[in-house]
Amino acid sequence: MLAKIKMWVSYLLRAAVMRGWRFLNEMFNARRGTSLVSMGVLSFAYRRNAQVATAFQGDPYNLSSQDAIALLELLTQDAVFSGAVDAGKEYTLTAAEREYIFFTPSAKKLVLLRTGDSAKQSWISGWRGRKRPNGNYYPNSRLVRLTRALGISDDEADVILEDYWTNVFKAETEEFVLDANDFDICIGGTESTKFYRCKKCGRVTPYNVKKQCASVKCAGTLEPCDPLKDSAMNHYARLYSSSHSEPLYIKEHTAQLAKDQQTRYQEAFVQKKINALSCSTTFEMGVDVGSLETVYMRDVPPSPSNYVQRAGRAGRAKHSAAFVMTYAKLSSHDFTYYDDPTAMISGKIKAPIFEIENEKILNRHIFAVALSSFFAQHREVYAGDNQTVLLNEGGYELLKEYLNTQPENLRQLLLRSIPAKMHQRLGISDFGWINRLCGEKVFLKPPYRISVEQ
Ligand SMILES: [Zn+2]
Repeated sequence: MLAKIKMWVSYLLRAAVMRGWRFLNEMFNARRGTSLVSMGVLSFAYRRNAQVATAFQGDPYNLSSQDAIALLELLTQDAVFSGAVDAGKEYTLTAAEREYIFFTPSAKKLVLLRTGDSAKQSWISGWRGRKRPNGNYYPNSRLVRLTRALGISDDEADVILEDYWTNVFKAETEEFVLDANDFDICIGGTESTKFYRCKKCGRVTPYNVKKQCASVKCAGTLEPCDPLKDSAMNHYARLYSSSHSEPLYIKEHTAQLAKDQQTRYQEAFVQKKINALSCSTTFEMGVDVGSLETVYMRDVPPSPSNYVQRAGRAGRAKHSAAFVMTYAKLSSHDFTYYDDPTAMISGKIKAPIFEIENEKILNRHIFAVALSSFFAQHREVYAGDNQTVLLNEGGYELLKEYLNTQPENLRQLLLRSIPAKMHQRLGISDFGWINRLCGEKVFLKPPYRISVEQ
């Protein structure tokens, strides 16, 4: 077990020295069930807390030294979890590293009290409790911790928070950011760093104040535990103890993205700078990122042909085995194929069919050909997605005029592209179809005129 701890710590220290942001990542995400703190591998201690803990040991609070330090640590951790923590002077986080850790490229800051404008700024968190117009406080976990541990009122707790800001953080500017170098890494499994588990919610914490759960939303009681021992079979614990731990980069890839952004992601994915793409069904066809190692489908696809399209993206390379997983959600369709997966995986694939004499489709084709032929003649009417020029600024009249001349090239184009069987019915030769496009009861007419008459 000791060898394992050493490996974990050496991983972290190596990361801390070489790339400070990985170390910050562990601090910021310590609450996660899979973090090194939750695994009982280590804990973080804000060095200045031990210096002021005596303030809670005498009257009127009479906390034990351990309770007092744990309480102060929980307060500091709240500041860390707000994201207002940096790697210090020696290392400046890049925007990408910041986004990886804090899910936003902009730096988070802490102010003593959020007021007015700062209350609307998402990158600013307040330290003290903020009051509603009715005099009550907005939810503030630090107030809860202090009132619960010390049996005091919100107002008394708020005074302690202000004292903490002045005497412990010693913030010299209005906006404050914690320096990760002010924290010690304490090794788990030793006499000085004990861990506790909440009997109610199961959360593991190194901070025990009067046996109260570290989660302010839980009223559970803590009991000593040995998370290292408990997590010996845990997937993440094993992952940490291997020497292959790497960060995982995931990006969203949908039709909503600009083309050049899509291309950048695809290239980064091929170069393994992005490990996973979270995709919509647009990815099913036409996106070239080569062979995939794993495909994870978050729903059962609509039909076997969709399944084959999606699952088939994996395993094209000869030298690697592929893995495809489908998550069946709580729906009738998904349940059906969960019970009978082969009906989806090797189900019948219907060949896509197109009825070449489908009147609806042919009409749309005729109109599209007519409009593009018209736009080619009258480029001044074409305004991209903006229909105003066509419908409201004289374009429509021009179109009717153009079509009524029965342009020969348009007739020939339609005669060639529409099945002969349908010529008579659709009025190709005598331009009978014009009535369907812009006659009285028609597909296209300008109903969009907005009356401005008073
Ligand atoms: Zn709990």
